[in-house]
Amino acid sequence: MNIREVRCKSVLSDTELYGLDYSINPYTGCEHSCTYCYAVFMKKFTGHKERWGNFVDVKVNAPEVLREEVQKKENGSVLMSSVTDPYQPLEEKYGITREVLEILQENEFNVSILTKNSLVLRDMDILKKFNHGQLSAGFTINFLDEEDRKVWEPGASTIENRMEALRRLNREGIPTYVHVGPWLEGITDLDGILERVEDFVYEFQIENLNRKRECEVMKAIRKNYPEEEERYEEIMKDPSGQNERLEEGVKELRRKTNVPVRLFID
Ligand code: SF4
Repeated sequence: MNIREVRCKSVLSDTELYGLDYSINPYTGCEHSCTYCYAVFMKKFTGHKERWGNFVDVKVNAPEVLREEVQKKENGSVLMSSVTDPYQPLEEKYGITREVLEILQENEFNVSILTKNSLVLRDMDILKKFNHGQLSAGFTINFLDEEDRKVWEPGASTIENRMEALRRLNREGIPTYVHVGPWLEGITDLDGILERVEDFVYEFQIENLNRKRECEVMKAIRKNYPEEEERYEEIMKDPSGQNERLEEGVKELRRKTNVPVRLFID
């Protein structure tokens, strides 16, 4: 793993993701190393040649830069994070996400955390300081089976650790949501995931698969789910059928639950 400490010029970036105003990425690169991760395009901007998951740039001055930016930019909603995981294991050592959250809370920005790591529990004290409606914390949960998790999200927390962390945040009064993204047709058990989490979430989100990592996704399918190969070859050629089936599936899900189900298709 190549870990570099770097200094950034800005940290509060405009975004249109999930209807939010800004995103903050305290790191470039991600130890979670997800096979389907679309953020791999960040390699182009940073000149990294290593495999995605084998490098992380730590933006050591991010809190300092953010303190200035919150004075200059309009108040708004912030996604933590869009192209990295704010609670990847290195965060335990560096605490950049923690400092960033403190600044956002002090300056009354709205924050939506999205992670695959139970390390978020470390910052419960800060999360509880946010005013009601100013913070939500979500876990990405795409699978229920650990074997699937190991194939697609080798560096992230186990499914059960995420489930337990979700329940704990919810018990502490933090508004929590679950994000299924990407939905992998034939592999992701949407009904099963919803059943496990619906008592602990104010919203259930689902996002389709984008094809930016076609090569890696197909490699994982051929190796681990050979019976799905034909289906995924079709999806990679033309995702419209898959997206229609997802829309149908979501309609069905909405009939079964009182939890709002939000669908993102890019
Ligand atoms: S946790 Fe998110 S940013 Fe990190 S590798 Fe996985 S998909 Fe990419």
